Amino acid sequence: MPHLYLHVPFCRRRCTYCDFSIAVRKRIPARDYVDAVLRESALVLESSPGWANPGAVPRGSSNATPLLNTQVGKSDGSLDTLYLGGGTPSLLPPDAISALLTPLRDAFHVTSSRDAVEVTLEANPEDVKPEIAAAWRRAGINRVSLGAQSFDDRVLKWMHRSHDATRIGDAVRALRAAGFDNISLDLIFALPAELRRDWARDLDLACSLLPAHLSLYGLTVEERTPLARWISRGAAAAPDDERYAEEYLLAHLRLAACGYRFYEVSNAERDGHRSRHNSAYWSGRAYWGLGPAAHSYDGRVRRWNLAGWEAYRRAVVAGLPPVEAEEVLTEEQRELERLYLALRTDAGLPHAACPPDRLTAWVGEGWVEVEGERVVCRPEGWLRLDALVGDLTGAGRAV
Ligand code: SF4
Repeated sequence: MPHLYLHVPFCRRRCTYCDFSIAVRKRIPARDYVDAVLRESALVLESSPGWANPGAVPRGSSNATPLLNTQVGKSDGSLDTLYLGGGTPSLLPPDAISALLTPLRDAFHVTSSRDAVEVTLEANPEDVKPEIAAAWRRAGINRVSLGAQSFDDRVLKWMHRSHDATRIGDAVRALRAAGFDNISLDLIFALPAELRRDWARDLDLACSLLPAHLSLYGLTVEERTPLARWISRGAAAAPDDERYAEEYLLAHLRLAACGYRFYEVSNAERDGHRSRHNSAYWSGRAYWGLGPAAHSYDGRVRRWNLAGWEAYRRAVVAGLPPVEAEEVLTEEQRELERLYLALRTDAGLPHAACPPDRLTAWVGEGWVEVEGERVVCRPEGWLRLDALVGDLTGAGRAV
């Protein structure tokens, strides 16, 4: 079943650590965005051997064209997941989200009950208000991923986030009242030591809100970010590996005590609330991406769109595919990806894919465990994923 990603590039300002492809805007050009994405979806459905159902045309797109009667892989043309990521998708007004989702549902023949499709919206806590949450629910959103990052106002300020800690709980409560039970929180760990961030407290406060899902990301320093500039002039310390490992392992302990289970290196769920969309990426399934900088993958070719909002928009308005480039993965590259993807999730590697001497060494170090026919990483293994894959490919020895 297909998976569709929509990249919404707009943000009010840039966070300290962020190098994503975003367009910082005071006023969000929602109508132009909806029009552009629907135009792109029509182009994709027309030109890609792929995905659609005969005769379906996205309504609301001024150059919508009939779709090809073709199929991707096992696709029955019906969506399984749709993910609005960014950027800050919650900056789109609810009527724009509805204007986007309704024609896409028609185009991708969503005939099953609305909640059979996982529809995720990434949101910043300050954008969640009771009436807006209710409108999102009416538009068909059934999962919200909140960029909480920390419950410490000092840290949020340092990150250049536009919410304070109280907004996170308010947002969760507003979402629940609107009928959302599938709520995920993002947190960032391994912050520079001088911030004296209390990571255990942040984990406990996150757990106290009982989200269905948590995503934990270690801070990385990307080029051309405010953080990289601070570090280069000595105004901030570079994040260190020891802190990263300590905080990562602490998260495993703390979250397990609260009933969460890591099913991927950075993601934990309770009561089976895995992200179906991200799980599709991690199991190597095909997906389509629409919007600036969005990536698509058909199992062999990876393709990505122009990153700049204006360049993207100009291309689709001119009726041109907004694709910047594509790469055809070699069998070797696909095998390497399969190894990474298998080891990063709790699906693990088939036993037979792991040479016996490596397996013995890894189990001895406490990096993996054997579950039936699978070799699955323990948290200590997830901390050295690159080394484990290097060990398997001959690129280096992990032990
Ligand atoms: S809100 Fe998200 S996408 Fe926007 S600048 Fe901050 S981290 Fe980047």
